Amino acid sequence: MSLVIVGSIALDTIETPTGSVTDVPGGSTTYCSLAASYFATPHIVGVVGDDFPDTVLTLFNNHNIDLAGLVSEKGKTFRWGGRYAENFDDRTTLFTDLNVFETFNPSLPEAYKNASHVLLANIHPGLQHHVLDQLKSQAFVVLDTMNLWIDIAHNELLSLMKRVNMLVINDEEAHLLTGERNYGKAAAKLREMGPEWLVIKKGRHGALLFHEGSVFSVPGLILDQVLDPTGAGDTFAGALIGYLAQSKDHSFDNMKLAVVFGSVLASFCVEDFSVDGITYLEESDLEERYDKFVIMSQF
Ligand code: AMP
Repeated sequence: MSLVIVGSIALDTIETPTGSVTDVPGGSTTYCSLAASYFATPHIVGVVGDDFPDTVLTLFNNHNIDLAGLVSEKGKTFRWGGRYAENFDDRTTLFTDLNVFETFNPSLPEAYKNASHVLLANIHPGLQHHVLDQLKSQAFVVLDTMNLWIDIAHNELLSLMKRVNMLVINDEEAHLLTGERNYGKAAAKLREMGPEWLVIKKGRHGALLFHEGSVFSVPGLILDQVLDPTGAGDTFAGALIGYLAQSKDHSFDNMKLAVVFGSVLASFCVEDFSVDGITYLEESDLEERYDKFVIMSQF
């Protein structure tokens, strides 16, 4: 047992300036696990309703995602709707229908408790604590969160940050948590809050990795087409931890590669709606895009 991912599984309705889709696969676990599957076998924990499409379960199976921790309950799957502004950055939540997700209480199958790597994908920090309480192993834990939890579950999130190895957040969340716009100052404050590793994602502008006195910057790739930014952050985190679980190397140099592969997968994610950009990629696709990051960063 190596990589465990716990988060939301949803059916999303998305409106962007280029189009809209209804009830498509979404949720933090969905994006994270598909992205991670290019590097390691993800073992997921989540809940879906009895309306969850078999086609998505088949997709998970085809990506070799272990579903032993996936519970199917009577009722509707969690649904979320979002609308993007003209700039593709500003997003309005149209609705959040928790449905079966409302009573979700993540329970790790026995084998999952010995994970070497755990991704606490976006769910309530109280549930993320509950996941860590069940672990028997000394896993490398990566934490993702969102502005909602920073607002309404602040103290639970702060105590959680002391229990994880790495925090992955975006620049707005970093500002919300620290009051700082300066990346260096925000990073120093965030690392004082607990995690020894920190990634600040800057959307289309790339990402920063902080550890002790070192910083690494990965650029944002210039893409010909962006259709739907939903799940890019989850995809980034999933690929990052998948790469770490596969390589089992937590040196700064290897973390840099994990951040680059996170960026590679995220760049595919935004090119299509829902998870369509990150399904059935070939190894050569990843290599080609990796090379673009190298060329763009080299001088
Ligand atoms: P991102 O674009 O990285 O913010 O992630 C978008 C995904 O988060 C969507 O697929 C939603 O289904 C999911 N999501 C939205 N709100 C929540 C929430 N409160 N808890 C967990 N997942 C959520």
